[in-house]
Amino acid sequence: MATLGFTFGTMGSGKSTQALQIHHNLRARGLTTILTTQLDRADGRVSSRLGVSADAEVVEAGSDLFELVRQRVNTLGRVDAVICDEAQFYHPTQCEQLARVVDDLGVDVYAFGLLTTFQGVMFPGSARLMELADRRTEIQVEARCWCGERATHNARFVDGKQVVSGKMVVVGDTGGPTAGEVTYDLLCRAHWMEGAGAARGAQLELLDDDVARLGDHPDRSGPIEVDPDRVPQPLHATANTSGANS
Ligand SMILES: [Zn+2]
Repeated sequence: MATLGFTFGTMGSGKSTQALQIHHNLRARGLTTILTTQLDRADGRVSSRLGVSADAEVVEAGSDLFELVRQRVNTLGRVDAVICDEAQFYHPTQCEQLARVVDDLGVDVYAFGLLTTFQGVMFPGSARLMELADRRTEIQVEARCWCGERATHNARFVDGKQVVSGKMVVVGDTGGPTAGEVTYDLLCRAHWMEGAGAARGAQLELLDDDVARLGDHPDRSGPIEVDPDRVPQPLHATANTSGANS
């Protein structure tokens, strides 16, 4: 009986290492596996921070994973397992295709990914995998916040300041005139929320200044009217229409 497993963890928790380990173990037993990855690993390899790597198939935003595996079953005669790295970036529809790979083709799927974004909400792909998976496993690697508490939340920083708005995927410096240095770190929830609150406060102040400049609301003591279009929406509210990668 094939199963769909979703293993999640923070950055640096060893998800790719574990994906590579399963890939290696199954191949060593003569089984046929497909290793897939996405986006920032788009050079077609899955590599672990510990120095191991293997060739992988890059899944595009529009790839049909069910078709990919079905065709491979036809050409190779069999596929025993699909191992997916960076599965948080998969579109929810692609996660449903993985469930069909399990149910209709009888192929095991091992998906690995982050659970939440730097904005502290679930990646749409990870949410769908949590809903569909037969097994959900959190990788228990003891990463620590700078304060010493267990680090559980991914934070993005621009020029050293935590941010909660911006594109879901930023790979390095985007090169624009306003682009700062983008870095990531792991924090405990309390420090993640402290930084996120400060970042949201800075955004509202910015909006308040703009509103005052426009002269619409000269009374600064009143409530700030915020244009909903200018406040970052939670990812899951926009992901269905704009795609998982934007
Ligand atoms: Zn902390």
